[in-house]
Amino acid sequence: MINMAAEVEWEVTVPEKRLKDKLYFENLKAVVIDRNICSRCLTCAAICPGGITVVDDRVDFPDYETRCMDCGACVRVCPRFVYEPKSGLGSYIRFIAGRSKRFTGQDGAMVSELMVSAMEMGVIDRGLFVSRDEDWATEVFHVRESEQLSIPTLGGTKYTFADVLPELKRAVMFTKSGVGIVGTPCIVSGVRRLQQEFPIFRDRVKLLVGLFCTENFHYSDITRYLKDKGVDFSKLIKTDITKGKFIATMTDGEVKFKVKELEGILPSGCNVCTDFTAVESDVSVGSVGSAKGFSTVVVREENADKIIDYIREKGYADFGEADPAQLDFLINHKKARAKNIPQE
Ligand SMILES: Cc1cc2nc3c(=O)[nH]c(=O)nc-3n(C[C@H](O)[C@H](O)[C@H](O)COP(=O)(O)OP(=O)(O)OC[C@H]3O[C@@H](n4cnc5c(N)ncnc54)[C@H](O)[C@@H]3O)c2cc1C
Repeated sequence: MINMAAEVEWEVTVPEKRLKDKLYFENLKAVVIDRNICSRCLTCAAICPGGITVVDDRVDFPDYETRCMDCGACVRVCPRFVYEPKSGLGSYIRFIAGRSKRFTGQDGAMVSELMVSAMEMGVIDRGLFVSRDEDWATEVFHVRESEQLSIPTLGGTKYTFADVLPELKRAVMFTKSGVGIVGTPCIVSGVRRLQQEFPIFRDRVKLLVGLFCTENFHYSDITRYLKDKGVDFSKLIKTDITKGKFIATMTDGEVKFKVKELEGILPSGCNVCTDFTAVESDVSVGSVGSAKGFSTVVVREENADKIIDYIREKGYADFGEADPAQLDFLINHKKARAKNIPQE
C-alpha cells in the first residue's frame, strides 16, 4: 500500500487563531467584520469552499456554525486579518498621462486600452470589467474581445462595490493564456494575497490594474442619497468625484454637491484605508495628476511597461506628462482619515 501522507508535503501556513477555540470564520468575523475594518473586497468569498458570501451588501456566512470547514483559507487571504496599511505613491517605472484614441472611458480610457492591448498581445485572453445595469447596480463582465467595449456601460466609474473577486475564481479556471483584472486598492491587495497563497492565481493573473480610490459606497446608500438629491437613474450617464465635488451627469442636466456630504454613508472599511494609489498593482490608473480627458498612469511592473510600449508602437494613445505632486493631497487625506483604526 502506498503511504500518500509520507510522499506529499503541504506547506501551508495559516495565521494563528486569535480566538483559540473558535472556527477560522469566527476569527475573521471577530477581527475584521465585527471590528468594522472589512473592505468588502470579497477575497474571502473568492476562496471559501463553504459559503462566505454577500448578504445585504456585507460579507457574511449564513449557517457558518454547520457549514464552515475550518480550513483557514479566509484568514490566509484577507488583507485585513493581519492589517499592514499601505500608502503613498508606491514604486514605479513611469508616471505618465495617457488618452486612448480607440475607446472612451471615465477619463482617458487607459484602463480599457491597457486591457484590450494586453489581449491583442496574447498576454491575457480575458479582462474582468465592472459594468452596470439600468439602475446602476454593478455587474462583472468577462471581456474577451475589443468589440465588446462598444457596450457603453463597461468603461467608466461606478461608485459602488462590485463582486469582482468571486468572478476572478471562475476566470482563472477557464482562461487559456491569462486573466486581466481591474479594481480598487482593496481588490488589488486581495489579488496579491490570493497570488501569495494559491499558485493558480499566481500563474494565471497576468495583469493587475489598480484604480486610484478615495472611497466607494454601498449600492443602497448611494442610490438613496442620489435619488433624494434629484438624480433620475433612467437619465444618468456618468458619475464622477472631482475637486471635492460629486457630479451626476444626466441626459438633461447635472446634480452636483460637496463630496463631504457623503461622510455619513462612508463605509467603515473605506474609513480605515490609507491606500489611494493601489500601490500593489502592476499599473495604477486615476484621474488626478493629469489634464482633463487624460488618465494618469503609474507603471509599476515590467509586464505593464511592455503593454505601454505596445500601445505607443501601435499609436493607440496620446501620451503626455503627469504630475505626481498633484496626488499628495488625496494621499495625505486618506492617511489622516484612517487615524483611528479600531483596536482589537
Ligand atoms: C470607487 C472608485 C473611486 C475612485 N476614486 C478616485 C479618486 O478619488 N481620484 C482619482 O483620481 N481617481 C479615482 N478613481 C479612478 C477614476 O474614476 C477612473 O476609474 C480612472 O481614472 C480610470 O479611468 P479610465 O478612463 O482610464 O478608465 P475606463 O477605460 O473608463 O475604465 C474604467 C474601469 O474601471 C472599472 N470599474 C468601474 N467601477 C468599478 C468599481 N466600482 N470597482 C472596480 N472596478 C471598477 C471598470 O471595470 C473599467 O475597467 C476611482 C475609481 C473608483 C472605481
